[in-house]
Amino acid sequence: MTRFPLCALALALLAGCSYPYTPPALSPVTAAAPVSGSSASPLAAEARTPVTILVSIDGFRPDYLTRDLTPNLSRLAAQGVSAPMRPSFPSKTFPNHWTLVTGLVPDHHGIIANGFTDATHPGERFTMASDEPYWWSAAEPIWVTAEKAGVRTATMFWPGSNVGWGGTLEPGGHHQVVGGVRPHDWQQFNQSVNDRQRVDSIIDWLRRPAAERPSFLTLYFDEVDTAGHEGGPDSPQVNAAVGAVDAAIGRLQAGLAALGQPANLVVVADHGMAATSSDRVVPLDSLADPSDYAMVEDGPYATLRAVPGHEQALEKRLLGHHDHVDCWRSTAMPARLRYGHNPRIPPYFCLAEAGWLILAKRPEKPFAGGTHGYDNVDPSMTALFIAQGPAFPAGVRLAPFDNVDVAPLLRDLIGLPAGQGLDGSDAPFRRILKRQGESR
Ligand code: AMP
Ligand code: ZN
Ligand code: ZN
Repeated sequence: MTRFPLCALALALLAGCSYPYTPPALSPVTAAAPVSGSSASPLAAEARTPVTILVSIDGFRPDYLTRDLTPNLSRLAAQGVSAPMRPSFPSKTFPNHWTLVTGLVPDHHGIIANGFTDATHPGERFTMASDEPYWWSAAEPIWVTAEKAGVRTATMFWPGSNVGWGGTLEPGGHHQVVGGVRPHDWQQFNQSVNDRQRVDSIIDWLRRPAAERPSFLTLYFDEVDTAGHEGGPDSPQVNAAVGAVDAAIGRLQAGLAALGQPANLVVVADHGMAATSSDRVVPLDSLADPSDYAMVEDGPYATLRAVPGHEQALEKRLLGHHDHVDCWRSTAMPARLRYGHNPRIPPYFCLAEAGWLILAKRPEKPFAGGTHGYDNVDPSMTALFIAQGPAFPAGVRLAPFDNVDVAPLLRDLIGLPAGQGLDGSDAPFRRILKRQGESR
């Protein structure tokens, strides 16, 4: 079904449509007329079409906005739309970043954790550095859909954006990818590239002549998450990181204003953060006999495989409710988690109550910090969502929604047709999106 073109056609003829925002017209980037240096009009005089910028602030809880540290983000929220956003389960970085750009839950898009294995690729392991296309191939990210539709994209970091999506590894080669689609411009993730450099890359891409300028961009900041792990959500480290990222958002807005570049900014987090402590640890060997299992992952949740032949013994002790922990066969997890059926998920799954940790053994030294990965409806896992720009009305607070709805929103903003078979939809935004030029 081609919902968007029908909607766009209806808009041209009639005044009403269930989805009112008119995105910039799709035109293949290669077909646009080149701008020669001498004949180019001064930047300020050019009427630029709005671009869409998806910004992720890793681990930013919406309540960080109430700490009086965020003049820029708080102003954006006041001038636009904000909501408490539910991450997908598990509330980890890679699964949720892939959800935000695909509209599918991790069970369906295949990035089921930050680290995992796949029986069809024996001996290999997915890590946050894995860019072989096969790990990522179950869901098409929005920059690939956009590039295929002739919309130029540029990513200043985003999990998966360095993958030649749809490509194949050259047989016998050195990890050489043949074919595949990447954003037109992208950067290999490097934590030491500072906030200013990240923001300035976005502005530099937008400084280009219209024919070479991206229409959809991503920008990613990791420092709030890092500080949250180190000190917990209420730490001075988090406050410092929140202030620093807010300043970067201010720099982005100033850069856009100087270019005269209108932008729909969609600022999100992938998950929240819960305080953890060595006082709130459940040792895995207190839940089952270590001779019955092999642990795959531990932390806010633990995943396990049974030692062959020990399935019954393991299930007898492990499955069910324990103090601060629930354990299931992965395929029998509560339906609301929308998780457990992907073959990459190990067969047994134990989830800790938020703030608790399941660790292989009782820790030897005391510690305090923060983590995420918990139940996606726990309030501590709630993620930031702010959207501001010509497509959005001012001062609207939406009811909580699921982050699978972000990719459909982005498709609307970019002018792509509604996706097929997605887990989310643009329903939370349909009523509020504005027509271009409309003021309300
Ligand atoms: P988590 O372990 O879920 O807290 O993951 C957060 C970390 O993921 C960040 O601190 C980054 O170091 C890392 N990260 C984020 N984006 C990328 C990327 N595109 N490639 C590799 N690592 C990344
Ligand atoms: Zn994260
Ligand atoms: Zn993290």
